[in-house]
Amino acid sequence: MTLSIADLPGHEGFAAPVLPGGELASSSSAFTRTFVGYQAACSCGWADQRRYSATPEGAKEAEYRWWSRHTPPLLAAAPPSWLVIKSNLLCEQVVKLASDRPLAALTLLSQVESWQRTLLDQAVAGARETGASWAEIGEAMGISKQAAHERFRAQVSP
Ligand SMILES: [Zn+2]
Repeated sequence: MTLSIADLPGHEGFAAPVLPGGELASSSSAFTRTFVGYQAACSCGWADQRRYSATPEGAKEAEYRWWSRHTPPLLAAAPPSWLVIKSNLLCEQVVKLASDRPLAALTLLSQVESWQRTLLDQAVAGARETGASWAEIGEAMGISKQAAHERFRAQVSP
């Protein structure tokens, strides 16, 4: 069984069987070799060190471990998928507007830019207040830690 969360594409958690040599089997699917326990793992390559018993209960505990240890920091930085869909749709519609009526697109994009800048500053300040590092902020924005710090240090406290 694999576990997934709609807002975390690319992350499927599973109880990975631990082979006698200590290495993890790559999935929880049909499995004929003997194994000595379970560890939590994810399709992204993440694996936890804690080992659980080679029982159905151990598998459940390993799955819970994926959910409780691996997903919280990822979810903190993942926008809700329904909002990503709306954002992509807005972009497509503005592209069409810019083609059909460029001046109307300029008016709309200027409005978006004005609230986008304010919200970006607020989100960075909020992230800093909740303990996010400049590296985490940069990663969330797809820019380097240095670029994030240089861009926002004046607006938010260090
Ligand atoms: Zn993952």
